[in-house]
Amino acid sequence: MERRRKTINSALIAKLSSLNCKVLKDENLSKHTSFKIGGAADFFIEVPSALALKKCLEIFKSQDIFILGGGTNILFSDGGFRGIVLKLSGEFKKYSFDGTKLSCGAAAPLALVVKEAAQRKLSGLECCFGIPGSVGGAVFGNAGSANESISQVIESVEIYPYSNGRHCRQDLQSPNDAIVLDKSAINFQYRKSGIAAIIAKINFSLKNEVKNDILDLLSQSIEKRKKTQPINQPSAGCVFKNPVGFSAGKLIDEAGLKGKTIGGAQISEVHANFIVNQGGAKAEDVLRLIKIVKTEIKKKFNIDLEMEIVIA
Ligand SMILES: Cc1cc2nc3c(=O)[nH]c(=O)nc-3n(C[C@H](O)[C@H](O)[C@H](O)COP(=O)(O)OP(=O)(O)OC[C@H]3O[C@@H](n4cnc5c(N)ncnc54)[C@H](O)[C@@H]3O)c2cc1C
Repeated sequence: MERRRKTINSALIAKLSSLNCKVLKDENLSKHTSFKIGGAADFFIEVPSALALKKCLEIFKSQDIFILGGGTNILFSDGGFRGIVLKLSGEFKKYSFDGTKLSCGAAAPLALVVKEAAQRKLSGLECCFGIPGSVGGAVFGNAGSANESISQVIESVEIYPYSNGRHCRQDLQSPNDAIVLDKSAINFQYRKSGIAAIIAKINFSLKNEVKNDILDLLSQSIEKRKKTQPINQPSAGCVFKNPVGFSAGKLIDEAGLKGKTIGGAQISEVHANFIVNQGGAKAEDVLRLIKIVKTEIKKKFNIDLEMEIVIA
């Protein structure tokens, strides 16, 4: 069914502004992603509170909405996004520790939270050392290292249930209040949570049984990333998930694709599972490289690579 596109007129902008939402029209998405790629969103709305979020969900209940976190795992198309890109801010950036418990707004920067946990000598979030983006984005994609992920220390997740798919389209019912999902109700898998809703808050249970100095581990991990990942070039992290028993980067390297360039996009010379924007890359350049990689890996190793980055 074709969805109605709601025009955001000045009255609506005034209403949203009265809720302290920041409303931007035709906002260039390349400004909001680590890839620095993407056309404009019809509307880009920053939502500072639960109250404002509920109002937005009521107002835009038949619209296409995309929830953006830190924009570090996403490739927006050159044509941008037809609908509303919604970004949590304000109170959603807050987090607090109570002993080994951590309660975290979805928009809190993961790197800050991880660092503060380390300073408090709390363990459990080591797998997220050096991962950019927001805590909500990390939970959505069950971010982590090769063998561990953030879900290990999650107790519960507070969500606003409304969406049905990768673009977080709303269903046609009125949005409900937040629901708290116990971890046991969430089917966390490798780089996947299956949560099709807005993640608003996350409760973690950490441990204070640190054997090594956790701050040393944090700086070692960041130093390692500097050597093994192209962290000084715009990218969205690993493009593909590691197939069971394989490293996607190693397969791409063995297929001789390191350094392959289309337009402004290049398969990184440093880490073959990264595509970097060398300057002025289009989403189309990245998509063409992705297609080549998938085809070659299937041909050479009979393996179907699955996307890790989100394509919107
Ligand atoms: C240099 C670099 C290194 C990286 N290293 C790693 C790594 O080691 N391990 C790893 O797992 N990842 C890594 N990443 C990828 C990325 O940083 C993580 O996936 C991160 O957790 C994404 O968070 P984000 O807030 O940026 O999400 P975004 O990119 O903004 O969004 C990603 C997806 O999450 C959804 N989402 C975001 N916030 C919410 C919310 N509040 N509610 C519902 N859905 C939401 C979006 O709709 C989208 O589908 C790396 C990226 C870069 C650029």
